[in-house]
Amino acid sequence: MTEPPIVTLARAYNFAAARHVRQRRKGEAAEPYVNHLAEVAELVALATGGEDPEVVIAAVLHDTVEDTETTPDELRRAFGARVAALVAEVTDDKSLPKQTRNDLQVEHAAHASRGAQIIKIADKTSNLRALLATPPVGWDEARRRTYLAWARAVVDRCRSADAWLAACFDEAAAALESSLELAPSAA
Ligand code: ZN
Repeated sequence: MTEPPIVTLARAYNFAAARHVRQRRKGEAAEPYVNHLAEVAELVALATGGEDPEVVIAAVLHDTVEDTETTPDELRRAFGARVAALVAEVTDDKSLPKQTRNDLQVEHAAHASRGAQIIKIADKTSNLRALLATPPVGWDEARRRTYLAWARAVVDRCRSADAWLAACFDEAAAALESSLELAPSAA
């Protein structure tokens, strides 16, 4: 018996919403974290035209292992081996220092599966949009610039995974960059 993908997708949304229930986005507006997951999943679904439901399901779940008590094994049992593998590919090892994790993301981006690359580009696009719309309290201009440069370094190594999505990222990056140029402290 194979479950229809739309059913798995609905289960994934409910699972992720429950796991991230107490988490908020870092920005001033402190949106519920599930808004980020919905945005990433939509970008992935649009980029793939719905042809690969497991990538969309993995997009919904992409932060569950990194940010919540969820284990890879739990994802494997509930959503299958490929979804769990895709999430594993986009999960940082939190036992490593932040800078090492960031360097590894850049290094791994080129070798990730196409599905994982698409999730990565969508994730970074969502994060840059959030940085522009509602920057986190305490993130000065330099910190936002550093994040932008790092996001570009990651996406530059996997942008061939999807041209449309890479263009979405470029648009978000350009918008953030021009807002930083207009920032008073840039003068
Ligand atoms: Zn994310």
